[in-house]
Amino acid sequence: MKVNQLVLTFSSVAENVGIARMLVASVGAQLDLPLNDIEELKVTVSEAVSNAIIHGYRGESGRLVLLELEINKETLKITVSDEGCGIPDVEQAMQPAFSTDPERMGLGFVFMQSFMDELEVDSTVNQGTTVTMVKYLDRSTASPSH
Ligand code: ATP
Ligand code: MG
Repeated sequence: MKVNQLVLTFSSVAENVGIARMLVASVGAQLDLPLNDIEELKVTVSEAVSNAIIHGYRGESGRLVLLELEINKETLKITVSDEGCGIPDVEQAMQPAFSTDPERMGLGFVFMQSFMDELEVDSTVNQGTTVTMVKYLDRSTASPSH
């Protein structure tokens, strides 16, 4: 059962990372998630959106990033897509500390993986990348006061 769905398309500029973070934080608050989980969701979305802007579009500002949030009964699904350069070797890209940019830590995927329950990266060179992540919502044990 699909409960709620939000879709945000925005230009590939760094200032929109904050807007994407705010959107997921609002959804997390609406779901009554603990503050720590909301912080993790914000980091997760930041990392995925930053990757789309920095790597997917190589810093080009006139492109579009798509953020989709799907709230289901037991899951929150987050999808971040770009139509950028794509990732030639996804398995390698997801290795801790791997980065194509020597200035970077190569930890974005590590954070996404550790904060979410499922992570899938679908990428085609010269076509783009879609990162799909799922967080399980344990709503059955939520306190009634929340
Ligand atoms: P950090 O996130 O720590 O700043 P990083 O972005 O290099 O460093 P990851 O986020 O783990 O590290 O990504 C690893 C690598 O995967 C990147 O260096 C880049 O080569 C590739 N990558 C990730 N997302 C995309 C994307 N949307 N499009 C193209 N390449 C990507
Ligand atoms: Mg990154």
